[in-house]
Amino acid sequence: MTRALFIIDVQNDFTEGGALGVDGGSAVAAGVTGLLARHPELYSSVFASRDWHDIGNDNGGHFARDAAPDYVSTWPVHCVAGTSGAEYHPALATDAVTFHIRKGQGKPAYSIFEGTTEAGETVGALLAARGVTDIDIVGLATDHCVRASTLDALEHGQHVRVLTDLIAGVAAGPSEAALAEMAHAGAVLATSHAVATDAERADAGTGTDS
Ligand SMILES: [Zn+2]
Repeated sequence: MTRALFIIDVQNDFTEGGALGVDGGSAVAAGVTGLLARHPELYSSVFASRDWHDIGNDNGGHFARDAAPDYVSTWPVHCVAGTSGAEYHPALATDAVTFHIRKGQGKPAYSIFEGTTEAGETVGALLAARGVTDIDIVGLATDHCVRASTLDALEHGQHVRVLTDLIAGVAAGPSEAALAEMAHAGAVLATSHAVATDAERADAGTGTDS
């Protein structure tokens, strides 16, 4: 078993005060940093994605132009490449990040699998090269990019856990629906505390089949 962590879109524009700020976003940033500081041994590699849109165009209809955004498929301008809104939240410590993934250049992209590294490597290829079989997913937002990334990871044959205390959604109802959909598709919903406790038990030799 080789496990990776996906940190989805923990960026200034998706956290409080950002163009598309999600309540609880800053707490997610700090929580992910805490988990990696306490348990760096949990993950063989860490992938962090950023929405990274073009400046000066509507990114394939992703940015609302002539009408108000519908917050389903059109959005306020956000995460424009090179702006502070596109940067990681300052509470997210990125020293543990192995692969920085950018997505959404000129088009909508909700799943981390739609992105690449700066060198053009795809997430699927990197997972295969590293022999990753299991993925934990944290980040923003539950009802959009976390959902899409989780469903894609399952499609890629990964065993997936969504760490429910380290995600935050745009809207409550859709976030609940997204969690139910991810669980139905095969994702395990777990807290970071439970995951860390399991790992400690396994380290102590008292684990069962993990
Ligand atoms: Zn976007």
